[in-house]
Amino acid sequence: MKSPTRMPLVVANWKMNPTTSEEATRLFSAISASLKKTKATVVVAPPAIFLGALKQGMRKAPKHIALGAQNVHPLESGPHTGQLSVRMLYASGASYCIVGHSECRALGESDALVNAKVHALLKSRMTPILCVGELERDQSGKYYAVVETQVRASLHDVKKKDIEKVVIAYEPIWAISSGDGKGRTATPEDAHEMRLFIVKILTDLYGRTMAERVQILYGGSVNETNAEGIFTQSGVNGFLVGGAS
Ligand code: PEP
Repeated sequence: MKSPTRMPLVVANWKMNPTTSEEATRLFSAISASLKKTKATVVVAPPAIFLGALKQGMRKAPKHIALGAQNVHPLESGPHTGQLSVRMLYASGASYCIVGHSECRALGESDALVNAKVHALLKSRMTPILCVGELERDQSGKYYAVVETQVRASLHDVKKKDIEKVVIAYEPIWAISSGDGKGRTATPEDAHEMRLFIVKILTDLYGRTMAERVQILYGGSVNETNAEGIFTQSGVNGFLVGGAS
């Protein structure tokens, strides 16, 4: 198995937690302090309303900690109630942004919309964290086609020179803690085989050299007990962590 060459990347998706700016600031300070010597890039993605407060805390944070947003609208401005643009998020301190999360796809987000978000982020030099993943694993392997469609459609028209700026998070919905409620977790082999499959799609689209530069994360009930095993045995470049973060 090819070992990751870049510094591992861990993305903390706080979802709609915590409930106050004070709590978010406290948690962020504690994380920054405890990660001073960590050899990984850590992206904290709080609810967007707390980004500004955490941006203040970034002054004291180590360089390998960054802020991320959980979603974005692909347009710059206009009549889009409740939405935030790339520029607004960037001004609030975010340099990464999650797109295509299964909880957003469940609300109707299409691959075409995810693709528009990826382009908007790349245009503004923010890093898209593109989430893909199947709802179920069937015996006949149809889940491969689900992931392939998501990857290809979400990366439509992304140029070869830009592909290494995209992070892909493989998040099988059945393994996400908010998923189907059955509490299943993926094995290192599950993550390994899908990582290889995504590299194969990227190779097809962009050639092997560029494909191997793309960081591929795993997400789905990662916690302090299973993280080490998945990381060392699957070859992924890091994690997208929800509940445990
Ligand atoms: C997620 O929702 O992106 C996720 C990985 O959640 P959890 O870690 O809670 O399964």
